Amino acid sequence: MIEQRVNVTSTTPEVIAELKRRSTFVMVSHVRPDGDTLGAGLALGIALSRFGKRVHYFQQDAVPRNLRFLPGAEAVSREIPDDLPSDALWCFFDMSDTARAGEFLPPIARENTLNVDHHLGNSRFGKLNYVIETECSTGTCVMRLLRAMNVPIDRDLATCVLTTIMTDTGGFIHSNTTPEVLVLSSELMMAGADKEEITEEIFGNKRYAAVKLLGRALSESQLIRDGRYCWSFVDDAMLRECNADEEDTEEIIGHLRTIDGVEAAALFKVFDGEIRVSLRSNGRVNVQAAAARLGGGGHFRAAGLTYVGSLDDARDAVERALAAEGL
Ligand code: AMP
Ligand code: MN
Ligand code: MN
Repeated sequence: MIEQRVNVTSTTPEVIAELKRRSTFVMVSHVRPDGDTLGAGLALGIALSRFGKRVHYFQQDAVPRNLRFLPGAEAVSREIPDDLPSDALWCFFDMSDTARAGEFLPPIARENTLNVDHHLGNSRFGKLNYVIETECSTGTCVMRLLRAMNVPIDRDLATCVLTTIMTDTGGFIHSNTTPEVLVLSSELMMAGADKEEITEEIFGNKRYAAVKLLGRALSESQLIRDGRYCWSFVDDAMLRECNADEEDTEEIIGHLRTIDGVEAAALFKVFDGEIRVSLRSNGRVNVQAAAARLGGGGHFRAAGLTYVGSLDDARDAVERALAAEGL
């Protein structure tokens, strides 16, 4: 019989019982980490270490420049200790699938996995799946666990969780900024999280290279389908020209989405023989469903995929997938 796991979400007490039962944990972030995947893992990791648990952090890619301020970020690496007990629990944050953790992730038995996430279409790959699609960030899923375990929320924990919220709400701008999110954010500020500092790290502090690259990408953009679809691209040559790197591409897609009349936006990042596509919607077109048609995933309004092929083919495929979702 086929195992029916679709949409089965573990309860808070089930997850807490598992956390109590295990002695050793590895917190896993997704590739090209953002403030949600990293902040969520650090928050749960910091809390578990306070209970005397042994905690490691696995992240394939280096911590981006603007997330190094996070408490505990210096402990994150792709090294895996060789003396992990066989029942160490691998906790995955902010990913629909373990493939998002990257190719350096060793094989792990399902028995030893916990999946904490808020994406639509999460594959429920874990032994336990704490997947709450209505949460604004994976960090606020972790916050539910911290509350249920009566963990005192100090400055470090508050900083990690507020960073996940500010990352995934775009600084309290996106539609996932509910009244509850604002109340929680206020509590986190009162617990010592420095909103100014997080704002500066996540949204300020722009490198000149990133601003120049933004200008290049905006000048390459095309507005088509009666102004409902805007796309642009960045490639290795543009990076070199601007003295920029991949981290400097993060902001571009947001600008394409804010254009009046645009319903969907796409940015094609053409680096090292593959194309990473970022998709954004203004609420009518489901870009998660469009990305899923091409093997990607994400949320209704923010999704992504990787395409192997030429930029022209990627553009055609993405436009067709968006059209199939009503663009
Ligand atoms: P990004 O455009 O990279 O900021 O990603 C937007 C959203 O899409 C995030 O929630 C990502 O987790 C998700 N996403 C991005 N790339 C992929 C991919 N290749 N596969 C699945 N989900 C992705
Ligand atoms: Mn993420
Ligand atoms: Mn997230």
